[in-house]
Amino acid sequence: MSTYPEPTEQRKQELITNYNDVLAQVHALNPKTNLVAVSKLKPSSDIMALYSIGVRHFGENYVQELISKANELPDDIQWHFIGGLQSGKTKDLSKHVKNLYAVETVDGLKKCKQLNNTREKVEGEVINVFLQVNTSGEEQKSGFKNFEELQETVEYLLSDESKKLNFLGIMTIGSFSESVSKDGENQDFKKLVDLKKQLDEKYNLDLQLSMGMSNDYEQAIKQGSTNVRVGTTIFGARPPRN
Ligand SMILES: *Cc1c(COP(=O)(O)O)cnc(C)c1O
Repeated sequence: MSTYPEPTEQRKQELITNYNDVLAQVHALNPKTNLVAVSKLKPSSDIMALYSIGVRHFGENYVQELISKANELPDDIQWHFIGGLQSGKTKDLSKHVKNLYAVETVDGLKKCKQLNNTREKVEGEVINVFLQVNTSGEEQKSGFKNFEELQETVEYLLSDESKKLNFLGIMTIGSFSESVSKDGENQDFKKLVDLKKQLDEKYNLDLQLSMGMSNDYEQAIKQGSTNVRVGTTIFGARPPRN
């Protein structure tokens, strides 16, 4: 018997409708773009509602919340960690989330090494890594700002040293003003696209682009996003974090 948390029938139908609406819009723009359902601060029963129709990619922002959801929910969920990564908690992710599909917010070489070295010890699966880039230049945003540091981290990821990490792509959040601006291209997304071209050429890669959230995922896909992270449009407004 399954002992997973169950949503009410009404909530389940609501979530399925929302998810399918977003998925249809995503796939109309690019059938290959991956939709990550961002379930942070939402109950596990919400996740099970979408799990029941085959959704497997979920995004979480807080290490403790992800660890407890991962323990409670099915093992074939592909978790994306998309929250601010603090050095102190990086090891916990590697150690306690065996079905961790990707960490999208890696913003330093030291954190990469912690993820890899801890994963080696626990003999877990390979973790996909997106390097987060600060494209907007805002102080409060995390992400690489300096190309040399980014490059050093890329070279570590491509080396034999990082056996438990796979360099999958680059990620950005972008400024709020760009996300709501109605005139044409999002300049922060454009910076990420340019950076991808540069890295692809230099290292002979075909990196994924993780950009786009509820406000701006359609524009992001138009500019080439292959991974969008959508929370509010699927799950509704989030409660405050306490
Ligand atoms: C919360 C969050 C999202 C989802 O945001 P919505 O606006 O609710 O779609 C996407 N990406 C990151 C990094 C987030 O922290």
